[in-house]
Parts: sequence; C-alpha cells; structure tokens
Amino acid sequence: MNNDLTNKLFREIPSVDKLLKNEWIQKYLRVYDRDFIKSSLSIILDEFRKKVNDGFYREVTELTQDFADLEEKLITEIDKKLNSYLKKVINGTGVILHTNLGRSPIPHEFLEKIDDLATGYLNLEFDLESGKRSKRDIILDRYIELLFPGYQSVIVNNNAAAVLLILNTFALGKEVVISRGELVEIGGSFRIPEVMQKSGAILKEVGTTNKTGINDYKNAISGKTGMLMTVHPSNYKISGFTLSIPPWDLVGLAESANLPLVHDMGSGNMFTPDEIAFSDEPDLHKLTRSGVPVITFSGDKLFGACQAGVIIGKPEYIKQIRQNQLLRALRVDKLTYLILEEAFKSYLTGKYRNILPIYRMLRLSKNEIEKRATSVMKRITNQDLTIECIQGYSLVGGGSAPEETLETVLISLIHKELKPLELQTRLRASEVPVITRLENDQVLIDLRTVEESDEEIIIDSLNFLQMGN
Ligand SMILES: *Cc1c(COP(=O)(O)O)cnc(C)c1O
Repeated sequence: MNNDLTNKLFREIPSVDKLLKNEWIQKYLRVYDRDFIKSSLSIILDEFRKKVNDGFYREVTELTQDFADLEEKLITEIDKKLNSYLKKVINGTGVILHTNLGRSPIPHEFLEKIDDLATGYLNLEFDLESGKRSKRDIILDRYIELLFPGYQSVIVNNNAAAVLLILNTFALGKEVVISRGELVEIGGSFRIPEVMQKSGAILKEVGTTNKTGINDYKNAISGKTGMLMTVHPSNYKISGFTLSIPPWDLVGLAESANLPLVHDMGSGNMFTPDEIAFSDEPDLHKLTRSGVPVITFSGDKLFGACQAGVIIGKPEYIKQIRQNQLLRALRVDKLTYLILEEAFKSYLTGKYRNILPIYRMLRLSKNEIEKRATSVMKRITNQDLTIECIQGYSLVGGGSAPEETLETVLISLIHKELKPLELQTRLRASEVPVITRLENDQVLIDLRTVEESDEEIIIDSLNFLQMGN
C-alpha cells in the first residue's frame, strides 16, 4: 500500500460544506432541503473514501476524473432516496383478489369523483342543516337503507376490526356460541379464536369439526350467552361428510333467545351476477332478506372498493355498536367514506358491473382471454423463450369464494437457459415488476388480472428480459 498516494487521494476529496459552496449545487439547494442534499453528498463522498481505502485509484487523475461525474452521482442518489417503496406491479397470477398485491383495485372513476372532496373540507361530521356537529357513522345509511331496507351500517378499518368491535360490544365477559368447524384462520393472520380472546369474549364451541346441527346451538345457549356467530369459512373448507348451519337457519333461534346473531361474511359479495356462478357464496341480498341481523365484510374483497370493515345490521344492534368507545379507535378516514360512498352508488345504479375492475375480471370469458393471450404471444420476439397458450384456471382469491376457479387460458413460458424460478425472479426485476405463477416447471401468466393497457408492459419485460448477473 502506498501511503503517500492514499494521503494525496484523501486530500482530493473535499468536505461536504465546501461542496455546498459550489455554483452548480445551488440549484439543488433551491429545490431540496439543505440537510437532504448534505446527507446525499455524504453518502457519495463516503463511497469515494471507500474506493481510496480499497486501492481502487492508482493515480490522482483517476480520482479527479471520477469526481467530474459528481452532479450525476448526486442525481442518482436523490432518485434512489425518492424512489417510493410502493410500486405498480403487473398481476399476472390470475388471482383476482390477491392479498399481497392490494386485493381489489379501486376504479379510476371513484378517485376522479372524490379528488375535489378529499383535497378540501367536507361535512364529514357536520350537519349542514343545523350547523351542528354530526357523526360520520350515518354517512352511508341512505345507501344501506335503499339496498337493504331496515338495515344501517358502521364502518371500521377492516373486517377483523369489525369482528373485534362486535364481539366486544355484545359479548364482553360473555359466551359466543360458534361452530367448531368455523373457528378458522384466514390469510394466516386473522384467527377467530384469538380475536375473540382479545375482545374479551368467551368462546363457546359447539358441534364437531365436520358436523354441527341446530340443536348444538340451542343446547349451548344459557344465561351466560352474549351472541351467536357464524363465519364464512373463506379459504378453508371441510369437504366430505359435513353438516353446517347457514346463518339464515339460526335467525329464528337467535330471535327467540333475544340474542344477536352475527355472520362474518368476509367477501362482501353484493350480487351474484348471472354470468358468474359462485357455488357457495351467498350474497348480501340473500343474507339481509332472510333477516340475518348483523353481517360483516371487507370493503376490498368481492365488494370491490378499498380496505374497510363494513358492518350492516338492524338499528337496535347498530345503535349499541356505535355507542362502544372502542369504535373511536377503529374508525376510518374521510377517504374511506368517499370511496365507499361511490361504491354503494355504483351498486345502486348497476354501474358496478362496468366500473369495478374485479367485476370486469370475473366476467372475462376464456375466449376473450385466449384472444388476448394469442396476440401478446405473437409479439414476443425473444428467441430464448418458448411460449404457448395452455388451458388453466384463474382464482378468485382473497379468502373469498374459497374453491372458486374460473376457466382461463394461460401464457406458458419456458426459457432456454433460465430455470423457471430464475425467470420468475427476472420478471419481477423488470422496470414494472411482472408477478407470475409457477406450476409444473412453467412460468405462467394469466391475462385475466392484467388490464389490456398493461399488456405492453408484459411484452416489453419478456422481450427485454433483465439478464444481469
Ligand atoms: C377476509 C376475511 C376476514 C378478514 O378481513 P380483513 O378485511 O382482511 O380484516 C375475516 N373473516 C372472513 C370470513 C374473511 O373472509
């Protein structure tokens, strides 16, 4: 190691404060905070020092040449810092409600409509007639009343919060009668028994894992009972020899025992459109028409809006839930109300069919997807890829409609050199990450969950595959 050279090189590297006096840097100081530029420069200068220590430069001129790029290095560093964590990705998995990819996309139309309201003041908790304070809880009641006469709503952060709030309202220190077959874990993080414990309710399991009858509920009711509960099993379904009681069959029992019956529906499936056949996904109309007194669901599953826990129920129960102080900690922001208001309006008018992206995806026929897949395939010029269209299935996902699959046509990709897992990784490294499915040693892309306007991104990613190292 040449100590002389090292010392000379170190002396060539200026201090941050000295750099800040340079002419060219003033324009950055006008746009960004001084501390932000200072810390960016520090990082760059540290890199120079590290290179010196590593013996990278053999002459002083090499360092000064490298230093000539300082402005570019600063721009790169600023970009790196401002590069958002959240990025647009292409969902090529064919899972419509992909829990890790933000569940249901929110329609453009909603965001356009709420822009003006969200960026200004609005009557979130203000009664325009009396000029007095009002409550946000009532905002959606008019739509709920039109869609489900005799019902009102409470909105919280998500369905898990909805269940917590309900249990805490009706069963604090009391028993909740629930079928053993419905003590489910959803998405690895929502466990009914644990939520129940946190809420202060006591679990009263009835029946066996595969068989619960109406008498099991009846016999479990006592002076200690706070409520009856049913849970849609979501992504968990017991097959074979099973007997479970749908919530509507418990309405009479709950009424005669004067107890609330709560159904955790999960999906928020409002209608089952004719062209989509969900075999066992009861919709909200069926649940309310049959008199189930309290229902909870997520705003971002089949309901197709944003994250929220929607509780709809008979006024006497909604009143008690609204009085629970815990609601103050679980309530949602104006943005959620604005989006939900637009979603309910789209259900009232029937526009949801064309506006909600998830309904467009659910409705796409195999033929339509095949046409798109074929035309995408024709535009792949990357000679290292073997591409074909194969038959397969899309998934509804999101813990909704557990075993529901939809026929689709998949683009199957095999790379000459890259193993499937590697190909999948490279596609994730594209400028806009393309998320794919892996099955039978093939990388698969399902266009059902890809907007047509995004097909170009997939074509580019495949044609200019990130080969790197
Ligand atoms: C998805 C789901 C939940 C959890 O809902 P989040 O909105 O994610 O909190 C609870 N119960 C059921 C039945 C579900 O399907």
